[in-house]
Amino acid sequence: MEIGFDCDDVLAEFEGTFVKAYNKKYNASLNKGDLTPSYMVWEDKFGTKKADDLLKLITPEFTTNLEVVEGAVEGVKELYDLGAKLYIITNRFIDAEQVTEDYIETHFPGMFKEIRYASNHGLKGRKNKGEICKELGITHFTDDHTDNIVKTNEHGVTSLLYDCPWNKEFKEHGLIERVHNWPEVIARIKRDF
Ligand SMILES: [Mg+2]
Repeated sequence: MEIGFDCDDVLAEFEGTFVKAYNKKYNASLNKGDLTPSYMVWEDKFGTKKADDLLKLITPEFTTNLEVVEGAVEGVKELYDLGAKLYIITNRFIDAEQVTEDYIETHFPGMFKEIRYASNHGLKGRKNKGEICKELGITHFTDDHTDNIVKTNEHGVTSLLYDCPWNKEFKEHGLIERVHNWPEVIARIKRDF
């Protein structure tokens, strides 16, 4: 069984860490969940210049020090021990490849078969997550961003939407199912094992 996961806010605690960095830089007091982790959303909300400044907060040190999402280590290990082939498909920028690989090897040593980099803002030519799932034969994919989940659903993948403040309004349809934590992710995947 081939199973795929998004990285940020599914495996790595990105948004909560980013909010802290934002508050420090702008002397603000946003809470976890107040900033949708998407360049396109930042661009719409703040304009291109500030969105570009926000991107600069994502340094290799920032990314290296992200905490792991609660339950992810145990969940990934359980699937690995069941014999699943595990993949990460992320929209992270290309210059984050090394730091991403190091992070995954540190927290999930030997458990992921491959990390693939999908399309995102400004990186045309990359495949979207649905296309990559199809190519790798992935049957179940988990992500917090609805645009990715819509694409994986279109490619016939059981698409688990990891519940976050920025996807609350989304109405599940087709093969899309909402999950709220790692135990729910694992329980859902194991139903099809
Ligand atoms: Mg994500």
